[in-house]
Amino acid sequence: MSRLVLVLGDQLTDTVAALAASDKDSDIVVMAEVSDEATYVQHHPKKIAFIFAAMRKFAKRLRDDGWDVRYTQLDDSENAGSIPGELLRRAEETGASEVIATQPGEWRLIEALEDMPLRLTMLPDDRFVSTQEEFDAWAEGRKALRMEYFYRDMRRKTGLLMDGDQPEGGKWNYDAENRKPAPEDIAFSGPMQFTPDDTVEEVLDLVEARFGNSFGQLRPFWFATDQTQARRALTHFITYALPRFGDFQDAMMNDNRFLYHALISPYLNVGLLDPMEVCRAAEEAYKDGHAPLNAVEGFIRQIIGWREYVRRIYFREGPDYPRRNALNHQRKLPEFYWTGETDMNCLSKAITQTAEEAYAHHIQRLMVTGNFALLAGINPHEVHEWYLRVYIDAFEWVEAPNVIGMSQFADDGIIASKPYVSSGAYINRMSDYCKSCRYKVNDKTGPDACPFNLLYWQFLDRHSEKFSGNQRMNQIYANWRRMDEDRKKTILSEAEAFLENLS
Ligand SMILES: Cc1cc2nc3c(=O)[nH]c(=O)nc-3n(C[C@H](O)[C@H](O)[C@H](O)COP(=O)(O)OP(=O)(O)OC[C@H]3O[C@@H](n4cnc5c(N)ncnc54)[C@H](O)[C@@H]3O)c2cc1C
Ligand code: SF4
Repeated sequence: MSRLVLVLGDQLTDTVAALAASDKDSDIVVMAEVSDEATYVQHHPKKIAFIFAAMRKFAKRLRDDGWDVRYTQLDDSENAGSIPGELLRRAEETGASEVIATQPGEWRLIEALEDMPLRLTMLPDDRFVSTQEEFDAWAEGRKALRMEYFYRDMRRKTGLLMDGDQPEGGKWNYDAENRKPAPEDIAFSGPMQFTPDDTVEEVLDLVEARFGNSFGQLRPFWFATDQTQARRALTHFITYALPRFGDFQDAMMNDNRFLYHALISPYLNVGLLDPMEVCRAAEEAYKDGHAPLNAVEGFIRQIIGWREYVRRIYFREGPDYPRRNALNHQRKLPEFYWTGETDMNCLSKAITQTAEEAYAHHIQRLMVTGNFALLAGINPHEVHEWYLRVYIDAFEWVEAPNVIGMSQFADDGIIASKPYVSSGAYINRMSDYCKSCRYKVNDKTGPDACPFNLLYWQFLDRHSEKFSGNQRMNQIYANWRRMDEDRKKTILSEAEAFLENLS
């Protein structure tokens, strides 16, 4: 008897485990655009359009390859509205009683599949460099799960940038060379953009009609939506941007949204690109003398280091992870996260860009929107939901560890050894935002003081019991203790007044 083979919107890879374990001649592929997945948080319309368009093209590809694909579009009158509902409907239609699935990247959906009254085989998603077993064995007995050590194991495992058993160039990590401030201009025209074809246009119309009121702009839409396009976008990045990627990885600019970033996370996360294919292409560029080691090592570390590491943390920590709130932060997310309407230029730029592009790069997410939310004591679950909604690459397994762990310290330091907080000085050093801001980054108090300056000290004071013993924060706390008492009082009361206004 035929079995149903579930292919989800982020499993668009020919060799994904469920397809690899199935028989083209007898099994039936089920793919569905369902309102449950599109609305459990109100995703950015670009994100919904990207996933639906890529799904439709992938289904066609499978059909051309000889698979029997039962595809449900969002507006099909029979649409059951949920993945389990669609599987049950297709089971009734075909007489199948067994489902083969690849493990979804979200606990919510794993649990929903397990609750279905159909026989289920759920296979591990092996489109990653590491396995969960490997990570758990590595983690066993360690006091701290620092990414850097896990990353070195991934270098050894893949052989990427290795010279025998030693790291290429003698060092594992070239991050110290990758912190150059914003340059005067950028010699890269940005990621490769694609004109929507008929399939994409059809999806854009559907998304406009159904999700036009969600946060963010649907058009213009230029993302790649199939493997061929995604590979072209990767080649474009490797050729034109990778050589400078390292140098300006942490920089931010008023008039350049993408700098030398790759914009490949959506393609990696839905399966249009494979992480090893991406890393090998970057390594090749180093071997050919096209890109320097600091750039290529920095880039590869993000993929076989951070990306793998957060995947494993998510599945190791369990379904309650997105609800953690180690610092007991309870403030509501300020309204300006939805409008970009704030006098703080860095936040306004990062949020407006997010609305228009469904994209912001790592440092904008970590040191602008994330930093502000942490300093202001915003409830981390609200912060998590914001990130999950607004970015085109946001899937819970990768988003939650980055937000709950790295950015908000809500997991109590599993991912970050200290909170990622900074005053305005860091943003000023790495960007040109402060030059055109109504606030003065050098003012520490007074009506024009940069709010990051006030909130930074208030955060440290508020959490001194927790963090003053942290070795990496000794110097900062020593500075705070040395500060004149009157000045401290002024900072704290101005910070309080600012926060009250925020609510
Ligand atoms: C608060 C916060 C939330 C984030 N949410 C997401 C998310 O929902 N989805 C997501 O894919 N990434 C997320 N990231 C990581 C990172 O910001 C994005 O992967 C990156 O900005 C994607 O853009 P890019 O392709 O231009 O990346 P580049 O800067 O060019 O980096 C290359 C690739 O490395 C990988 N990568 C880099 N950093 C990370 C990281 N910390 N975790 C996982 N992969 C990484 C991505 O696949 C990325 O495509 C988040 C980071 C922070 C601080
Ligand atoms: S002055 Fe402060 S609020 Fe304004 S852009 Fe700089 S860091 Fe942001």
